Amino acid sequence: MNNFLETSQTLVDQFDYLMLDLDGVCYLGAQPVPYAIKTLNRLNSNGLGLFYITNNSSRVPSSVSEQLTGLGLDTRPDQILTSAQATAQRIAEIYPRGSVVLALGGEGVFEALQSVGMKVVTTADGDPIAVVQGWSREIGWAQLSEAVLAIKNGARHFATNLDATLPTERGETIGNGSFVAAVSNATGQPVLSSGKPEDFIYEAAQKLTRSVCPLAIGDRLDTDIRGANAAGIPSMHVLTGVGRVNDVLFAKETDRPRFLAADLRDLDTPYPNIVCDDGVVKCGDDVASVADGIIFLNGETLDTSRDKDCVEVSLNSYRALAHLVWMISDSSTEGINLVLPRIEVIH
Ligand SMILES: [Mg+2]
Repeated sequence: MNNFLETSQTLVDQFDYLMLDLDGVCYLGAQPVPYAIKTLNRLNSNGLGLFYITNNSSRVPSSVSEQLTGLGLDTRPDQILTSAQATAQRIAEIYPRGSVVLALGGEGVFEALQSVGMKVVTTADGDPIAVVQGWSREIGWAQLSEAVLAIKNGARHFATNLDATLPTERGETIGNGSFVAAVSNATGQPVLSSGKPEDFIYEAAQKLTRSVCPLAIGDRLDTDIRGANAAGIPSMHVLTGVGRVNDVLFAKETDRPRFLAADLRDLDTPYPNIVCDDGVVKCGDDVASVADGIIFLNGETLDTSRDKDCVEVSLNSYRALAHLVWMISDSSTEGINLVLPRIEVIH
């Protein structure tokens, strides 16, 4: 994978569509992410296409677009692709209209399957040909057992997504992947997921938008970025959600973003060339280097000062440092053995 950049243009000059994750990119819970709404509105008014891809399968697209519009980002339902819609599209590619499908999950799953002409049921008694499993807070033994009965009777098991956890204000709770694991543990049968990090949802988005040069934007390396990489779509990571600087530095190759940003404002500021040469990486005026296993940023070691528990660096220093750490990691046959302090980007 080529992580090195060829241009110092702004990113928005190079793409026709942004394929944006929602939580951690556009909003955080009920609040908009700082600068996100204003930036997206400005870029959209300049002609850039906006499209939103979410692993949340429980909501219908109109509910998601109403939320974004309520935050000040005018959005239509056809600018949203949920993992339920992606799964329904996959079902429609495999089975004829009118096929009986057992659904678990929220309104989003039921509506998506009905919109592609499936006969949706909630018990195993109707001889379903497939089970589509999405998340709902109502899921319990009864629904999971119907899924198990149907799959043991020959139905194929589909999941909208395999996120093990679901973040809430109180911490991480059970996500769809954990419910799916309960079913597959009982059936021993394989599961086909269509949500991120599968390439299917990004490829479906590209078909829907007819985008020629999309840029995927996300906050999670193991879903947003991995899925974009799998689909061959350039990706940009933002630090406004789950994935932090140190996660990016130590990401495995499949999870590394093509472009590194602090927040969405960085879409329309010049992105300097990354130049790598013999243990030295430059990004604009910032330089990351390694000598005798010690990393230097602009000639100084990455020590934490007495009054801070982390090292604050500029955005271009972060970009140079990430490419340096990736280079060190890739050149090591025994795995990376670097110890770094917690790093934060100051904008
Ligand atoms: Mg997210």
